[in-house]
Amino acid sequence: MVVRTPGVSPAATSPPGQRRWGWWTRAAVRAGLITAGLSRRLGLGAGSIIGGRVTLALDAHALRRLAAGRRVVLVSGTNGKTTTSHLVAAAVRTVGPVAHNSGGSNMADGAVAALAEARDAEYAVIEVDELHLAAVAEAVDPMVVVLLNLTRDQLDRATEVGAIASAVGHALARHPRTVVVANADDPMVVSAAKLATRSVWVAAGSSWLGDASSCPRCGHTLTFTESGWECVCGLARPTPDWRIENGKACTSNMVLPLDIRLPGQVNRSNAAMALAAACAVGVAADQAASALREVDVVAGRYAVVHRGAQNLRMLLAKNPAGWAGMLSMLGESRPLLVIINAREADGRDTSWLWDVPFEQLTSRQVVASGERAADLGVRLSYAGLEHQTVADPLAALAALPAGEIDVVANYTAFHHFRRRLLGGSRLSREREVAR
Ligand SMILES: [Zn+2]
Repeated sequence: MVVRTPGVSPAATSPPGQRRWGWWTRAAVRAGLITAGLSRRLGLGAGSIIGGRVTLALDAHALRRLAAGRRVVLVSGTNGKTTTSHLVAAAVRTVGPVAHNSGGSNMADGAVAALAEARDAEYAVIEVDELHLAAVAEAVDPMVVVLLNLTRDQLDRATEVGAIASAVGHALARHPRTVVVANADDPMVVSAAKLATRSVWVAAGSSWLGDASSCPRCGHTLTFTESGWECVCGLARPTPDWRIENGKACTSNMVLPLDIRLPGQVNRSNAAMALAAACAVGVAADQAASALREVDVVAGRYAVVHRGAQNLRMLLAKNPAGWAGMLSMLGESRPLLVIINAREADGRDTSWLWDVPFEQLTSRQVVASGERAADLGVRLSYAGLEHQTVADPLAALAALPAGEIDVVANYTAFHHFRRRLLGGSRLSREREVAR
C-alpha cells in the first residue's frame, strides 16, 4: 500500500537517466576518489572533503553533473541535520540505493564526494549547511528539501538568523517543483518555507525559541498560544499536515508508530520530519516508519564507548538550541563530561555558552573540558554548578567515577575525543545503544 503525503502529491519526478558524464567529469571524479583514498590510508580522515574539493577544482560544475537524473533530498537547518539525513536515507534505502554524505560533510564538496562514491544510486540524501543550501539546491534541483529549524549558530561565521531565513526562503522560491518539508513550530522556518510553492508542514516542536520572540517578517512581538503562534502581520503557524501524538506520527488519514531507538523528544521530531520527507519521495509510509527503527547510532553519536570501567555515552551539541534538546536526554544524576572547542568548524566565538540553560542541570558531578574548558568553567560557575575544570578530555575521565557517564561535546571536540578513545586503546570498543 502506498500512502501519499498529505497536502501534496509526491514531488514531480523525472526518471533517473543513464548517468553519462563527460570524460573530463569522469577524470575529475576519479582524481577526487583517489585523493580521498590516499587521505584515508594516511589516517588523515574520511577524505570526503578533500576528495570533493579536488573534483570541484577540476570541474566546477561537477555537483550539477553528478546529481543530474537522481531524486535528491536535501536536509538542512541548524540542528539535527546529520541525524535526520540518516533517518531519511534509511527510509529511502527501502526503495533503492542511496548516495548519502553520512559523515556530515555538509557543503558542496561533501555532496560531490557522496555522489561520486555512489555513482549508480538513483536516490541521494544530502545533508546541507543552511548557509550553503541556496548554492547546493541550485546545482542539484532537489525533489524534496527538509527544513528542520533555524537558530543562532557559529556566531562569528553565520549572519543573523533572520537574514539566513530570508536567504533560504528566496532559494526555495526558485524551485517550484520541489516539495519543502518544513517545521510548522519554528517561525523562522515558516517565514522561509512560506516562499516555497509546495510545502508539507510538520508539527515538529521547538526546544528553544530564543531567536523567535519577534516576527521574522515585520519585527513585531510574536504571540504564542496553546495551539501555535501568530503575528499581527498575518504570519502564523500553518495547519500541520503531520503531528506527533502519544509518540505516533499522525496525518488526517493515518497513524504511524515512531518507536525509534534514538533517544529524546528531539529525535522523535526528527523522525517525523524524515517520515514526511520519505513519503514525499514516494516511499510507502509504513515501510518508511519500519526503516526508521533500524537507526541507532549516527556518525558516532548516541553510541556507548567502553573505556576501562567507564561506559561513555557520546552526545553532540554545538549551540543553545542543540543543548536545549539534549538536556532531556541526559541521565538524571549521571556524571557529565562537557568538552568545548572553538576551532573554525565550531565557530571561534564561545559566547553562545551563555545562552545554554546549564542551570537546568540538576546535582551531578560535572567536569568542564576541551580547548575552551576555561570559558565553559566560567559559564558553569555563573550557572551555580559545582564542577572541575580539566582541559584534556582523557585526563578529565580520571576525575570521573566508574559506570555510566554522559559525554556532550561540540563538533571538533566530539570527533577528536572519539578518535582518541577508539584509537588509543585496543580494549576500546563501541556498541550500539539499546534504548
Ligand atoms: Zn509579523
